[in-house]
Amino acid sequence: MKLIFLGPPGAGKGTLAALVSKEYRIPQISTGDIFRDAIKRETELGKKVKEIVGRGDLVPDELTVSLVRERLGQPDASGGYILDGFPRTIPQAAALDEFQKIDSVVNFTVSDKIVIERLSGREVCKNCGAIYHVKNMPSKVKGVCDRCGGPLYTRPDDTLESITNRLEVYKKQTEPLVSYYRKKKILRDIDSSKSPEDTLTQVRKLLGKP
Ligand code: ADP
Repeated sequence: MKLIFLGPPGAGKGTLAALVSKEYRIPQISTGDIFRDAIKRETELGKKVKEIVGRGDLVPDELTVSLVRERLGQPDASGGYILDGFPRTIPQAAALDEFQKIDSVVNFTVSDKIVIERLSGREVCKNCGAIYHVKNMPSKVKGVCDRCGGPLYTRPDDTLESITNRLEVYKKQTEPLVSYYRKKKILRDIDSSKSPEDTLTQVRKLLGKP
């Protein structure tokens, strides 16, 4: 099963990709996570993308595509995967078409108001990447990950300024992908404005049994 999870920042792509990855036993490939990890480890890639990611702008297509191409060539991706956060532009999607055949695109839909509310209260585990929300999905112990005990932090691009920019970037550069994949008849919409469990139930219906 080769899947793309599409949708604005805060739509729940990452949260759902983690759940679906576990249930369907396919890897979650998140370009955002790859960039954040590189920034944290201060690698060459990390140095190149730090400012861009911090502002909420997009990393250049060529760089992102070659990274994904290499990742998809790894053995664990041969039986399927979830692309979470890629493609994000028409050129990225066109490049992906050249070397992969995608089975299904899940388009998570949610209002701007909910996006801003979700992202401004988001917390992420520094250790395992688990996602929380201070109000809607708090960890049991404040600042500590339920899953691994790691420390929670607020992503540096979850400031109001960067969130607003990411929403604009999404509308301009990524939203055209909805009609790109709709035309190919492989896109399905899912309302992700409620809880992760509610969204997961809809995704299960759409994908069928693992
Ligand atoms: P969100 O969906 O919450 O905005 P992500 O974790 O998917 O967050 O991405 C974080 C940042 O990483 C983006 O704002 C962008 O700077 C960079 N990024 C992630 N995926 C891509 C991509 N496919 N193309 C270009 N930049 C990307």
